Amino acid sequence: MNIAITGAPGRMGRTLVGLVHQDPQLTLVGATDRPDSSLLGTDIGALCGLGDLKVPLIDDLDACVTRPNVVIDFTTPAATMAHLTYCRQFGIGLIIGTTGFSSEEKDQIAEAAKEIPIVFAANYSVGVTVLLDLVKQTAALLGDDYDVEIVEMHHRHKVDAPSGTALRLGEAAAEGLKRNLEECAIYGREGAEGPRDNKTIGFATLRGGDVVGDHTVVYATEGERVELTHKASNRNTFAKGALRAARWLKDQPAGLYDMRNVLGL
Ligand code: NAD
Repeated sequence: MNIAITGAPGRMGRTLVGLVHQDPQLTLVGATDRPDSSLLGTDIGALCGLGDLKVPLIDDLDACVTRPNVVIDFTTPAATMAHLTYCRQFGIGLIIGTTGFSSEEKDQIAEAAKEIPIVFAANYSVGVTVLLDLVKQTAALLGDDYDVEIVEMHHRHKVDAPSGTALRLGEAAAEGLKRNLEECAIYGREGAEGPRDNKTIGFATLRGGDVVGDHTVVYATEGERVELTHKASNRNTFAKGALRAARWLKDQPAGLYDMRNVLGL
């Protein structure tokens, strides 16, 4: 199966290149970076310490050695939109790992999924996929008497906040409580804001060091609190999930899928 990786020199890109290289059933046919990258033309294998893979970094998916069956994208929202256009043009499946999309961009992804198969997940780890179900169930069981707050921490380079995973966890809690996250989310607090409105779902964002991704959903009431936590300790967990999604996606019809579909949950 032929794979192209966009944003290949990035943190997730390098992890993916390493795992594709180890898998005899996968062939890396393209590795891209942004058009102004000083790395263009360099072999991605050499960049990742894997030796010469004969896959030079390009800035255009159209220049892949062979046309890919699936493109794996962990870049930026603007770059993902361009990759979406390419995949749509040639009927290629797309794995979207990028986070931080606007609602208009999400609509464009849903529109493209009428023509091509797309897996779109804010978090490709199996643990977070299961956690999303637990968060929804716990919210439904505990009900409105428990205040829901979501705390996340990521490395100092992360550009979007709250994380895509924190927002998905918020959506899961809101579904369990039959609320609309857009109407009840509080993304930060400062100054004399008064007491907490019990119909809100709060978010707190921490950034620092090399934290790969920590998320905790807190349900607090008078006398007790429940906390559900996930901690990612390296990026392999996301990259392995994305490759599992790519293998699965190859045989799917057009549609918008997430990791629950990939895992058959
Ligand atoms: P990074 O900054 O290390 O890597 C991004 C790469 O994309 C860089 O190499 C950059 O040069 C490249 N890029 C930018 N514009 C491009 C373009 N037009 N064409 C090709 N390449 C381009 O970031 P990262 O830590 O690897 O994360 C990337 C994205 O993935 C972020 O949105 C992050 O939140 C998300 N992420 C998602 C998951 C998940 O499980 N869904 C896990 C980790 C990270």
